[in-house]
Amino acid sequence: MKYLSTRGGVEPVGFAEAVMMGLATDGGLLVPESLPKISAEQLQAWSRLSFQDLACEVMRPFVGEDLSAAELQDLVYRSYASFQHPDITPLAQAGERRILELFHGPTAAFKDVALQFLGNLFEHFLARSGERLNIIGATSGDTGSAAIAGVRGKERIQIFILHPKGRVSPVQERQMTTVLDDNVHNLALRGTFDDAQRIVKALFSDLAFKTRYRLGAVNSINWARILAQTVYYFYAWGRLSGGNLKQKISFSVPTGNFGDVFAGYLARRMGLPIERLILATNRNDILTRFVHHGLYSLTSVHHTLSPAMDIQVASNFERYLYYLLDEDAAAVSARVTAMQRDGRIEFSRTEHQRAAEDFVASAVSDVDTLEQMRATYSGTGYLLCPHTAVGVRAAAPWPDAVCLATAHPAKFNQAVREAVGVDAPPPLCLQGLLDKPSRCEELAADTSAVRERLKTTLDAP
Ligand SMILES: *Cc1c(COP(=O)(O)O)cnc(C)c1O
Repeated sequence: MKYLSTRGGVEPVGFAEAVMMGLATDGGLLVPESLPKISAEQLQAWSRLSFQDLACEVMRPFVGEDLSAAELQDLVYRSYASFQHPDITPLAQAGERRILELFHGPTAAFKDVALQFLGNLFEHFLARSGERLNIIGATSGDTGSAAIAGVRGKERIQIFILHPKGRVSPVQERQMTTVLDDNVHNLALRGTFDDAQRIVKALFSDLAFKTRYRLGAVNSINWARILAQTVYYFYAWGRLSGGNLKQKISFSVPTGNFGDVFAGYLARRMGLPIERLILATNRNDILTRFVHHGLYSLTSVHHTLSPAMDIQVASNFERYLYYLLDEDAAAVSARVTAMQRDGRIEFSRTEHQRAAEDFVASAVSDVDTLEQMRATYSGTGYLLCPHTAVGVRAAAPWPDAVCLATAHPAKFNQAVREAVGVDAPPPLCLQGLLDKPSRCEELAADTSAVRERLKTTLDAP
């Protein structure tokens, strides 16, 4: 399988190169040159597989020659050994509502499903090439801890995560700073999240520095993350349908960067019988407005109770755009240019109609999010995290839809307490965090201070 850029400016590359490249070198996103079609027989056979064996089957056509079947199997099994549930992504019930729990990984959020696998992929490909990778990222909470958990202790990788000092929740801070592996560097900046992001951007745009120090990112534009996330759609369908192809299933997906729901869209394009994809946003509703009105236009970011979805520019949107425009890279480039120039993309009537067939969308306010958490808890005893509650609320007209649970409620106890008056009992990975030894360095929110700090580690013999 070869990968192309959504903007057409990259010679086709293999899976390993696509994974190591992350963002395409022409600024676009990497997509497979074609999508495999899964036959009815395959879907039926897959419905009986464990999560891990299913993951190997789903991923096999995408990895091509770059991993042998045995290598892929080894990577997949090691990646999901860190999960606390034997089903990896189990289905649960909240009354009549079906919930697909994606939070049983080491940081109790769904990003573990992709980042545990990505960390192992990086290590495998780096061992083969003899190269090194230095990951740098800014976090306001969830992504930092999942990225650290994905690469801690890995050979040939260093990770530097910048967070705004005192501005992430104590649990989130501890999830990062209690990881004591030598290759993990937590930098608490005396500044805001925007400062942290600005510094990371500045370091990446310093091309000489970026190349010399082999800087890389783990953000949600990496193709391997999307690929890993398609697996649980196949898994949930198999468990619920028993392989009956006549049974179509709907999913409700709380989304910010368009990553998770795009994985479901791909699964459907590959032939999975998905009825409806419900795209659920919070008050930051650029994607919902796109589906409703055929207009993709920027506004400002609002802080909500579901902070992992407080996003304006959805970084994976360009992948969907590529399919919406019939895989025409020149057309994608033109639209992206319009976006950069005008801050908006207008879609034709036909394009909008197609988008409205691909997704139904709903934007859920904080008030309704809390109300949903309360209603589900009092009706069924099941605690939703605020992100998951956004998806459950959006799915209200479709009681049969499976709702993706993207974080354990104990990660967002402030919202849980506000909604239902009790704390969620913490899973194992969140217990005792405040008493564990931690390591973190404080730095000025200043690009050259961070650059010097990176050099200190990376220039050491
Ligand atoms: C990252 C995240 C999301 C949004 O995922 P996307 O890939 O941006 O759609 C939702 N919920 C939680 C808890 C997250 O951490």
